[in-house]
Amino acid sequence: MGLKPGNHTVQMDVDPEFFACFPESEIQNAKGVMDVILEYSETTMTLRLALDITWRVPCGRCLEELTYPLKVEDKIAIRFGEKTEYNDALWILSKNEFELDLSQTIYELAHLARPPHQVHENESECDPNMLGYTSNDLIEESKKLTDPRWDALKNLK
Ligand SMILES: [Zn+2]
Repeated sequence: MGLKPGNHTVQMDVDPEFFACFPESEIQNAKGVMDVILEYSETTMTLRLALDITWRVPCGRCLEELTYPLKVEDKIAIRFGEKTEYNDALWILSKNEFELDLSQTIYELAHLARPPHQVHENESECDPNMLGYTSNDLIEESKKLTDPRWDALKNLK
Protein backbone atom coordinates (compact mmCIF):
# COMPACT_ATOMS: atom_id res chain seq x y z
CA MET A 1 0.00 0.00 0.00
CA GLY A 2 3.05 2.27 -0.05
CA LEU A 3 2.41 3.41 3.52
CA LYS A 4 5.16 4.30 5.92
CA PRO A 5 5.02 2.54 9.29
CA GLY A 6 3.35 4.66 11.94
CA ASN A 7 -0.05 6.12 12.63
CA HIS A 8 -2.09 7.59 9.83
CA THR A 9 -5.08 9.66 10.83
CA VAL A 10 -8.06 10.62 8.71
CA GLN A 11 -11.24 12.41 9.73
CA MET A 12 -14.33 11.66 7.67
CA ASP A 13 -17.44 13.82 7.62
CA VAL A 14 -20.72 12.05 8.29
CA ASP A 15 -23.86 13.95 7.33
CA PRO A 16 -27.50 13.38 6.31
CA GLU A 17 -26.42 12.86 2.68
CA PHE A 18 -24.35 9.91 3.87
CA PHE A 19 -27.34 8.23 5.52
CA ALA A 20 -29.51 9.01 2.49
CA CYS A 21 -27.37 6.43 0.66
CA PHE A 22 -28.95 3.81 2.95
CA PRO A 23 -32.71 4.04 2.31
CA GLU A 24 -33.39 1.44 5.03
CA SER A 25 -31.46 3.47 7.62
CA GLU A 26 -33.34 4.33 10.81
CA ILE A 27 -30.93 7.18 11.25
CA GLN A 28 -31.29 9.92 8.68
CA ASN A 29 -30.75 13.36 10.13
CA ALA A 30 -27.33 12.95 11.74
CA LYS A 31 -24.12 14.88 11.46
CA GLY A 32 -20.62 14.60 12.83
CA VAL A 33 -17.32 12.93 12.16
CA MET A 34 -15.58 9.60 12.18
CA ASP A 35 -11.94 9.61 13.23
CA VAL A 36 -9.94 6.85 11.64
CA ILE A 37 -6.48 5.95 12.85
CA LEU A 38 -4.56 3.39 10.87
CA GLU A 39 -1.77 1.90 12.97
CA TYR A 40 0.64 0.47 10.49
CA SER A 41 3.79 -1.53 11.10
CA GLU A 42 5.79 -3.95 8.99
CA THR A 43 3.79 -6.87 10.29
CA THR A 44 0.41 -5.67 11.50
CA MET A 45 -2.21 -3.14 10.65
CA THR A 46 -4.99 -1.99 12.92
CA LEU A 47 -7.84 0.41 12.29
CA ARG A 48 -9.12 2.40 15.24
CA LEU A 49 -12.46 4.00 14.60
CA ALA A 50 -14.26 6.62 16.67
CA LEU A 51 -17.67 7.73 15.51
CA ASP A 52 -19.02 10.92 17.04
CA ILE A 53 -22.25 12.19 15.52
CA THR A 54 -25.42 13.93 16.63
CA TRP A 55 -28.75 12.44 15.67
CA ARG A 56 -31.93 14.49 15.42
CA VAL A 57 -35.13 12.47 15.47
CA PRO A 58 -38.76 13.26 16.36
CA CYS A 59 -40.00 11.99 19.72
CA GLY A 60 -42.15 8.89 19.18
CA ARG A 61 -44.88 10.36 21.41
CA CYS A 62 -45.06 14.07 20.63
CA LEU A 63 -42.92 14.52 17.49
CA GLU A 64 -40.79 17.22 19.10
CA GLU A 65 -37.25 16.95 17.83
CA LEU A 66 -34.85 15.09 20.13
CA THR A 67 -31.07 15.14 19.90
CA TYR A 68 -28.92 12.13 20.72
CA PRO A 69 -25.14 11.96 20.65
CA LEU A 70 -24.09 8.70 19.01
CA LYS A 71 -20.59 7.84 20.12
CA VAL A 72 -18.94 4.50 19.59
CA GLU A 73 -15.44 3.17 19.11
CA ASP A 74 -14.23 0.09 17.32
CA LYS A 75 -11.01 -1.66 16.47
CA ILE A 76 -10.42 -3.77 13.40
CA ALA A 77 -7.33 -5.81 12.60
CA ILE A 78 -6.27 -5.91 8.98
CA ARG A 79 -4.28 -8.65 7.31
CA PHE A 80 -3.39 -9.30 3.72
CA GLY A 81 -4.58 -12.52 2.15
CA GLU A 82 -5.68 -14.19 -1.03
CA LYS A 83 -9.06 -12.56 -1.25
CA THR A 84 -10.88 -9.72 0.44
CA GLU A 85 -13.06 -10.72 3.38
CA TYR A 86 -14.80 -8.49 5.92
CA ASN A 87 -15.42 -10.01 9.33
CA ASP A 88 -16.45 -8.14 12.47
CA ALA A 89 -13.04 -7.59 14.01
CA LEU A 90 -10.75 -8.76 11.22
CA TRP A 91 -10.59 -7.68 7.62
CA ILE A 92 -8.55 -9.59 5.12
CA LEU A 93 -7.53 -7.60 2.08
CA SER A 94 -6.26 -9.07 -1.14
CA LYS A 95 -2.94 -7.62 -2.23
CA ASN A 96 -4.44 -5.45 -4.95
CA GLU A 97 -6.94 -3.82 -2.60
CA PHE A 98 -5.91 -0.22 -2.12
CA GLU A 99 -8.98 1.43 -0.74
CA LEU A 100 -10.93 0.76 2.40
CA ASP A 101 -14.64 1.35 2.09
CA LEU A 102 -15.82 2.34 5.55
CA SER A 103 -19.36 3.37 4.70
CA GLN A 104 -20.99 0.09 5.78
CA THR A 105 -18.97 0.22 9.02
CA ILE A 106 -20.03 3.78 9.78
CA TYR A 107 -23.64 2.80 9.12
CA GLU A 108 -23.43 -0.20 11.46
CA LEU A 109 -21.63 1.65 14.25
CA ALA A 110 -24.18 4.47 14.20
CA HIS A 111 -27.03 1.98 14.55
CA LEU A 112 -25.26 0.17 17.38
CA ALA A 113 -24.99 3.44 19.30
CA ARG A 114 -28.58 4.56 18.94
CA PRO A 115 -30.87 4.41 21.99
CA PRO A 116 -33.55 1.70 21.83
CA HIS A 117 -36.45 4.14 22.16
CA GLN A 118 -36.53 7.62 20.79
CA VAL A 119 -38.97 9.35 23.13
CA HIS A 120 -38.74 11.98 25.87
CA GLU A 121 -37.57 10.24 29.03
CA ASN A 122 -40.63 11.41 30.96
CA GLU A 123 -43.97 11.75 29.31
CA SER A 124 -44.34 15.08 31.15
CA GLU A 125 -41.58 16.50 28.96
CA CYS A 126 -43.62 15.82 25.85
CA ASP A 127 -45.51 18.55 24.09
CA PRO A 128 -49.01 18.19 25.63
CA ASN A 129 -50.69 19.65 22.53
CA MET A 130 -49.34 16.83 20.43
CA LEU A 131 -50.02 13.88 22.74
CA GLY A 132 -53.66 13.34 21.85
CA TYR A 133 -52.72 13.41 18.22
CA THR A 134 -49.94 10.82 18.25
CA SER A 135 -51.16 8.32 20.84
CA ASN A 136 -53.77 7.04 18.37
CA ASP A 137 -51.06 6.61 15.80
CA LEU A 138 -49.00 4.62 18.27
CA ILE A 139 -51.90 2.29 19.03
CA GLU A 140 -52.35 1.74 15.31
CA GLU A 141 -48.63 1.10 15.08
CA SER A 142 -48.65 -1.53 17.85
CA LYS A 143 -51.58 -3.34 16.22
CA LYS A 144 -49.52 -3.64 13.08
CA LEU A 145 -46.69 -5.14 15.10
CA THR A 146 -48.80 -8.12 16.15
CA ASP A 147 -47.84 -10.88 13.80
CA PRO A 148 -50.82 -13.20 13.11
CA ARG A 149 -48.42 -16.16 13.25
CA TRP A 150 -47.89 -15.46 16.95
CA ASP A 151 -51.61 -15.79 17.57
CA ALA A 152 -51.41 -19.30 16.18
CA LEU A 153 -48.58 -20.11 18.59
CA LYS A 154 -50.72 -19.07 21.56
CA ASN A 155 -53.07 -21.98 20.85
CA LEU A 156 -50.31 -24.57 20.88
CA LYS A 157 -50.28 -25.17 24.65
ZN1 LIG B 1 -42.08 13.73 23.48
